[in-house]
Order: sequence, then C-alpha cells, then structure tokens
Amino acid sequence: MAETVANISTVDFDKIRKDFPVLDQQVNGRPLVYLDNGASSQMPVQVADRIDHYHRREHSNVHRGIHTLSQKATDAFEETRKKVRDFIGAGSENEIIYTTGTTDSINLVANSFGKLYFKEGDQIILTEMEHHANIVPWQMIAEQTGAEIKVIPVDDNGDLDMKAYKSLLSEKTKMVAVVHVSNALGTVNPVKEITDLAHNSGAAVLVDGAQAVPHQPVDVQEIGCDFYAFSAHKMCGPTGFGILYGKKEYLDAMPPYRGGGDMIDKVSFEETTYNVAPFKFEAGTPPIAAGIGLGAAIDYLENIGMDVIAEKEAELVNYAVEELQKIDGLRMIGTPRTRASVASFVFDEIHASDMGTILDKRGIAVRTGHHCAQPILRRFNVPATTRASLSFYNTKEDIDRLVDGINYVKSFFE
Ligand code: PMP
Repeated sequence: MAETVANISTVDFDKIRKDFPVLDQQVNGRPLVYLDNGASSQMPVQVADRIDHYHRREHSNVHRGIHTLSQKATDAFEETRKKVRDFIGAGSENEIIYTTGTTDSINLVANSFGKLYFKEGDQIILTEMEHHANIVPWQMIAEQTGAEIKVIPVDDNGDLDMKAYKSLLSEKTKMVAVVHVSNALGTVNPVKEITDLAHNSGAAVLVDGAQAVPHQPVDVQEIGCDFYAFSAHKMCGPTGFGILYGKKEYLDAMPPYRGGGDMIDKVSFEETTYNVAPFKFEAGTPPIAAGIGLGAAIDYLENIGMDVIAEKEAELVNYAVEELQKIDGLRMIGTPRTRASVASFVFDEIHASDMGTILDKRGIAVRTGHHCAQPILRRFNVPATTRASLSFYNTKEDIDRLVDGINYVKSFFE
C-alpha cells in the first residue's frame, strides 16, 4: 500500500468538500445532506474531469488497436490495474481482474472456482450478515454442484460468533465467503483471523470488501485472503466498474467465466485456447472510461490518505452514534465492537420508509429498507432500518441536521 504522509490535523476538509459540487445544492428547498454513501459515494471533480478528458480526447477501444489513440486509451486503462495493485497491496497487477462491480466479482469466483472445486457434500461458509451479492451466487453454484451452505451466526451486538465459526470449519469446507464491513450494521469483521482459520482447514477465502475499501487502508496480502472484491462507485469512482483480486495460483487454475473477444489465445471451430489471467476473465470491450475513472479515484483517495480518511470517518460515526442514541425510542441495529461508517436504527412506532420519506423532504438523503441483507434484518426481527452511511466529506453539521430531522419526524407520531 502507498505510504501516506498526511496527518488529520493538517487536512483541510472544508476544501475537500468543495471538490464535490453535487453536495452544494438545495434538495426540497434545503441544503442537501448526503448520508447514503454506502449505496454510492459522490464523485469529486478530479475524477469527473479525468473521465471527461477520456471521452473528449482519448476515446478508443483498448488492447486491440495499433493506432496511437487506442494505445493511449490502453495505457490509461492498464495504469489503473497498477494503481489498484498498490492501493490494496497485491503482489502483481496480474492478480487484479476488472469486473463490473462487487456483485460481478463474486459471481465470477462462485462460477469459476465453484465449477472447478465444489462437489457433492462440500461446504461453503457464509455469515448471517452477508449482502445478497455474497449469498445468492453461492446458492446458485451450490445447487449446481451439490455443495451446501453453512452460516456463521451473529450475536445481539452484530458481531460474528467466532466460536460457532470454528465449529463449522471442517475438511468439507471449500470456501469461506465473508463481508469485511457489513453494509447493514457497520460491523468490521476480523478478516485476517477468519482467513487464518479457514486456511488451517484447507478452505479458500473470499472477502467482500465493498464497504471496506472506501473507508480504511486494506492490504490483501496482510489479510491473506484468496479473493477480495469491491466496487468503484462506492469509492468516489464511477458506476459499472469493480475489481476482483485473486491469488495467482487460483487464477491460473480457474476456467474462464465468460467467453468472447480479448479472453482468448487462439480460436478455431475445433478448439479454443485461452489468454492468461487476468485477461482470460475479461471477455469483450470493458467499461474503459469507468476503469480510467477508478484510477483517478484512487489517486484522489491516496492524496488525502486512507488512514486520514479512516480517522475522520471514525470521528464522524462515533459522533453520529452518540447523538442518535440520545433520541428517545431510537434503537440501534448493530452495536459492534468495531464499526465503520454506518449507523442503522429503528423506531417501534415509525416505519423506516416514513422516516426516509420525511427526511428527504428536509433535504436529508438516507437509505431505508433491508439494504439487500434480508437475513441479518430477520436476525434482528426488523423488516427495515433507516441507515445513515458516512463519507469523509460529511460533517458534524450533517449529523446534527439528521438528528433534527429525526426529531421532526418523531413529532408526527407523538
Ligand atoms: N456487498 C456489500 C457489502 C455491499 O454493500 C454492496 C452494495 N450495496 C455489494 C456487495 C454489491 O455491490 P455492487 O452493487 O456495486 O455490485
């Protein structure tokens, strides 16, 4: 991972906020308070400008063209692979596969790894707090291969029951797929420990890092996991682009996931041979502008420093939880030991969708519903929560506006 030199006290967050023009607008007659960063974060002008430059001056297809413009586009697009490698501490850029997002990355592993390694009676371990993106692809491959799914339970605070995890592990376990940071609860899971235990049992590990990479330094070699997935649009980048990190020995062994141009070595009607990783997993024209945009987003985040971002967001989320807990009748869903950037809550008397709708009328954007994580909401016996998810460009004033808004909503129900 790149060294950062910034210290939080020297970082001008007011100036940083100005990089995000979308935040400077009125919504329903009030200044926007954007607290839905877990769904998608906002894009700074530096990233939007880089994407714009590609469209205006560099647009061309990658990898195939001999002409200058195509080489320029290819260089910019491939530069992102090296930036991602350094950003997450991978050993080689050949371990970085371009996908369309976390969901696509997990589907790739479930299909390719699953078809190669899963057989009748094998087990896949998930946790009770997974996003549907890290449940459904495993269910689909389990159905095809005869493997079965086991689930690590979550305690009343929203932490994993590690004792139960240890007892689930056996020589039947082929894959442990676990979320790094829960999008519904904010729990930061001990992914290194989870990985070490899985490896001791001979299982591979996939970490869903969609909510971790935008908020804290991540080093995949330090974690030791075999696969790590995340999305550009949650880390100041564009939609439609994501990353799968995979260890070389697995990527070399795994079959392609999709067929088409770019992923081949030689094609004839009798036989086709495949390109090497990462290209054998990247069929067809990729989202080039989005890939270049992710490179710019990484530059932007590294310029601030991921450790500075983590510290700033910890300050904000701690303040949010403190202030929310002062509100009468509010119940936090998830009070984990370590929390990142997410605060979810319910009221017995107020439905989350009413809460979200009225907050929106006051210019406050939050997420309400099951957050694509129905099993964990069922675990807490709630159909929906209201979720505030923060980014480094949020302020304590944003949180004060949220608390004011909640009190306003409450006044309707009293
Ligand atoms: N996993 C987690 C933990 C998430 O929060 C999300 C997005 N809400 C996803 C996976 C899916 O990401 P995407 O829709 O970008 O593929």
